[in-house]
Amino acid sequence: MRVLVTGGAGFIGSHLVERLLAEGYEVTVLDDLSGGQLGNLSGVRDHPRLRVIVGDVRDPAALRMALGGVEAVFHLAAVVGVPRVLADPVRTIQVNVEGTQRVLEACAERGISVCVASSSEVYGKGVHWPAAEGDDLRLGPPTSLRWAYAVSKLLDEHLALAWARHGLRVSVVRYFNVYGPRADPHGYGYVIARFMDQALRGEPLTVYGDGRQTRSFIYVTDAVEGTLRAGLLPAAFGHIFNIGCAEEISILDLAEKIRAVTGCQVPIRFLSFSEVYGPEFEEIPRRVPEVSRARALLGFEARVTLDEGLQRTWEWWRTCRRV
Ligand code: UDP
Repeated sequence: MRVLVTGGAGFIGSHLVERLLAEGYEVTVLDDLSGGQLGNLSGVRDHPRLRVIVGDVRDPAALRMALGGVEAVFHLAAVVGVPRVLADPVRTIQVNVEGTQRVLEACAERGISVCVASSSEVYGKGVHWPAAEGDDLRLGPPTSLRWAYAVSKLLDEHLALAWARHGLRVSVVRYFNVYGPRADPHGYGYVIARFMDQALRGEPLTVYGDGRQTRSFIYVTDAVEGTLRAGLLPAAFGHIFNIGCAEEISILDLAEKIRAVTGCQVPIRFLSFSEVYGPEFEEIPRRVPEVSRARALLGFEARVTLDEGLQRTWEWWRTCRRV
């Protein structure tokens, strides 16, 4: 069976590609290398079952070529990460919405199933936590650019579910702060990648605000397992899934943990949100997923603890990442 991974040269995408190849699939990657890089696929570059197409998911010719012989699509190509979104909200909206629209249309025409990557960012500031997939959402105003990403992904979700009503076999995964090897300190997986980068350079760990905001982090191989199930199991189609870990931690505690894991006795430096992101920025004080739907329908649960995942990530960071 051949599958297409859009955004397959990105952080999560490249791990998904490795896993699919290990499972015996024929894999096509479509990536414009704007966020991802071919280096992320260096471990499988010469794999006989891998085909890489460099192109924009919005380009009909590139998409047509990429879909040749494909039976399932994992649509991960998107502009992601708060700094990238703040830097170019127009491109964020265009790529995330138009790209998904084209992928969904093409899959519907050809009878191909598709799993669309979304984000826990769609919950916004949240109504209550842990948040379940059917819960109300609470976004801030459009004057705060941060929400451009959430709105683009929400529209993707609506499009996906609208196509499901027309018979498309489609599922949506909402990732909750995925981290691990190859996360880009300037893109997704931001805070852990940044802290490790800073630790390695012997620089202070930059904690934004008072550090009491919380997140739950999921190790990338767990996120890949959830994605694989959401994309391939018939029970998944027509549904949205939180792909996250129930373990919650404050950013200050995370910084302490990273100092312990890395053994780097670097200081912690507090920076205000307005200093980092400008005066209009709105922070999300808490974010943690309700994980029962993925457990019930996909039999999926995150397995790698934060301590274990940070160890593995640091191992990679120390040995593979050039400062
Ligand atoms: N953060 C931080 N220092 C950094 C980068 C991020 O304290 O150098 C905080 C950020 O304010 C947020 C959390 O870490 O509360 C997670 O940030 P990230 O950008 O990784 O993802 P988000 O959950 O905001 O999408």
